[in-house]
Amino acid sequence: MSKIINIAIDGPAGAGKSTIARLLAEKLGYLYLDTGAMYRAVGLKVFRSGLAVDDEAKIGEMLDTTELDIVYTDGTQKIFLDGKDVSEEIREHNVSAYASDVSKIKAVRLKMVEMQRDIAAKQNCILDGRDIGTFVLPNAEYKFFLTANSRERAKRRFAELKAKGVECNLEQIEKDIITRDYNDSHREFAPLKQADDAVVIDTSDMNIGQVAEKIINTVR
Ligand code: C5P
Repeated sequence: MSKIINIAIDGPAGAGKSTIARLLAEKLGYLYLDTGAMYRAVGLKVFRSGLAVDDEAKIGEMLDTTELDIVYTDGTQKIFLDGKDVSEEIREHNVSAYASDVSKIKAVRLKMVEMQRDIAAKQNCILDGRDIGTFVLPNAEYKFFLTANSRERAKRRFAELKAKGVECNLEQIEKDIITRDYNDSHREFAPLKQADDAVVIDTSDMNIGQVAEKIINTVR
């Protein structure tokens, strides 16, 4: 069997990671694993259960009885929480903050990371997240760190939400993004951080095609 290749794409919220990862996965014939969806699903469960986001003990207990499944249909990732497809609900704006809060909890991260490593060990895979190159797969063959200024990232999120018909405010989105970046990069365990050996791409003034081309040229 030929060697399994993993590509890690990390970076802050709204840097274009998922769009790029999806496109590359299609071009290269790799599986795309959106690791943020996993933290979002746990965040959604905490939100629904009414637990306090900082109640690590209760969230740890909840996790023991939580069933999380990643399923692929025609290459598209779906996420099931306790047997129900929550792929749409996890995208709601308020779930982002819950995801960021629960992702601080070590027990949550360890469970997610174990699942991520299992999936990545079985096939060529592109994973996007915050800690893929630094913690989940420190030996990934290729590592990229995508970034962009907060205004640009907020504008992209704003356009995405508008396209879905969601009422939103650009200033508020930018504030939320800055808060989430701060939390993600200041947590104690496996924070958002650029791996020393990652290729850094500032996408502020680049379109998707340009970013994809840069990454493909590196990989090929
Ligand atoms: O990528 P996305 O914005 O969907 O991620 C939601 C949240 O999940 C992030 O703000 C971060 O707190 C958390 N996350 C993480 N590690 C990952 C992926 C996401 O902590 N590998």
